[in-house]
Amino acid sequence: MRPEASQPSATAFRTEATNALAVVATVCASARSRVQRAEEQLARTHTILNRQAARIAQFRQWRVGKMLRDGRLPRDRPAAVYHRPGKGERCVVCTRGIGPTKRLVAIWARDGEPVAYLDFDCFKVWETVRSLPADHQPRLPSTAR
Ligand SMILES: [Zn+2]
Repeated sequence: MRPEASQPSATAFRTEATNALAVVATVCASARSRVQRAEEQLARTHTILNRQAARIAQFRQWRVGKMLRDGRLPRDRPAAVYHRPGKGERCVVCTRGIGPTKRLVAIWARDGEPVAYLDFDCFKVWETVRSLPADHQPRLPSTAR
């Protein structure tokens, strides 16, 4: 049996436990504060990303509208539209490369020559904008935030 002197008194044990709980409470308050700041930063980042996505979508619509008007993209859907993974071709709308993880859409003319390669996002925009009235002109995104 252990000697009586090595056992902490009930008062000392209570004081030690109270101090430990105070440390835990301080650490928890600090962690809660950090989590709140991170959530606020995440919300700001989402707002920025959503704004950028809206501007990119608006730019695609504007560019497709321009290409339909100047004849670089057909208004009528050709009989042949071909899908496959990209091999590094450039999308005629956004000029980004279409790599193997993205879907390439080739629009073919009647003579069998490809008219244009588009990534799938720009293809969906083309499908929407080409069906709008010919005098409809999508707006260019403003530079204002
Ligand atoms: Zn594109």
